[in-house]
Amino acid sequence: MADADAIVIGAGIVGAACAHALARAGRRVRVIDARRGGATGAGMGHLVAMDDNRAELELSSRSIDLWRALAPRMPADCAHSACGTLWIAADDAEMAEAERKRERLAALGIASRLLDAKALAAAEPALRAGLAGALEVPGDGILYAPNAARWLLADAGAAIEFEQARVAAIEDDGTLLLADGGRRRAAQVVLAAGLEATALCPELPLRPKKGHLLITDRYPGTVRHQLVELGYVTSAHHAEGDSVAFNVQPRPTGQLLVGSSRQFDTTDPAVEPAMLARMLRRAIDYLPGLGELSAIRSWTGLRAATPDGLPLLGAHPWREKLWLALGHEGLGVTTAPGSAELLVALMTGTAPPFDARPFAPGRLLETVA
Ligand SMILES: Cc1cc2nc3c(=O)[nH]c(=O)nc-3n(C[C@H](O)[C@H](O)[C@H](O)COP(=O)(O)OP(=O)(O)OC[C@H]3O[C@@H](n4cnc5c(N)ncnc54)[C@H](O)[C@@H]3O)c2cc1C
Repeated sequence: MADADAIVIGAGIVGAACAHALARAGRRVRVIDARRGGATGAGMGHLVAMDDNRAELELSSRSIDLWRALAPRMPADCAHSACGTLWIAADDAEMAEAERKRERLAALGIASRLLDAKALAAAEPALRAGLAGALEVPGDGILYAPNAARWLLADAGAAIEFEQARVAAIEDDGTLLLADGGRRRAAQVVLAAGLEATALCPELPLRPKKGHLLITDRYPGTVRHQLVELGYVTSAHHAEGDSVAFNVQPRPTGQLLVGSSRQFDTTDPAVEPAMLARMLRRAIDYLPGLGELSAIRSWTGLRAATPDGLPLLGAHPWREKLWLALGHEGLGVTTAPGSAELLVALMTGTAPPFDARPFAPGRLLETVA
């Protein structure tokens, strides 16, 4: 007998959003999570409209709208805030890029405005002098993802049943084999296990991208927006090699959350002093006073990256009953609700909110006859 209408493997922000959307579609959902920790507990929680391509922008902007709609019902500890993003332009070339970014966002109806050097200095006095300006995206925000994931599961009430267990294997007919020997069955299974999904489906093209973060003590008012250098886009999309970028978030507590770094193909969780120092030098270059603040803690996390930077959302091309919600790299907190909405539309045979094809798992998985 089936244990639910659908089973979701993974209760990170993506699995929780999928379970929530399935429950809202009237499904009885079982969520199975080993509570091993994952990217959701390690990330930054910047809700950001990213515009590398139209598909990414549609997914991220739709998701930010969905978070905004959920926010009034979310408890305060989810720390949703519409602080907006300032994309910092260091020089005239980056200012020209800011203008191009404004046009790309406007094409999808996303409001933003250019700030000149004077307006930027007035908006964020702690930034170094001499910057060219910025693009302000007021609709962006922040969220504390671990609490938001827990709330999504709780919000659905009895429609979602949670089970703490490790899925050891997915059998050919879609039955789940648990590490304790138990078996779970449902008509549909969603694999949202983050990077560890490769242990269950080795064919998945997911690569780890390690990131460092550091949080300071409380200094309310030092920074008001999420501040990101425009060069972040280049750094975030380096296909190979290590990179850092200036990326600072004002937490509602008054703390500053400082990122970001990217390293491919290491799963060692250790904080690497050289990489942390490189990331902080970059941050201090933009925010000189940062060097005087006390740091409380630094840590790392692993992003699950696909070869083309878009997540896998849709049916597994050959595994029975299996649906994928994976590979959200550095954008999964932002894109969890839009990913869930899209996947659940596909699973229930309703019209997707936007073009699902760029996310189809078959684009990156070889199909077998
Ligand atoms: C340093 C860093 C900064 C980031 N900053 C941002 C940001 O600013 N904005 C943004 O949008 N995103 C950001 N991200 C990305 C974001 O955190 C991830 O994309 C997102 O959390 C992925 O969520 P997930 O639910 O897919 O995976 P995870 O959070 O990894 O969850 C997977 C879950 O599956 C469970 N699991 C795994 N294997 C099994 C198994 N066999 N059986 C049962 N359960 C299992 C785990 O216990 C875990 O709970 C950042 C990530 C990092 C690392």
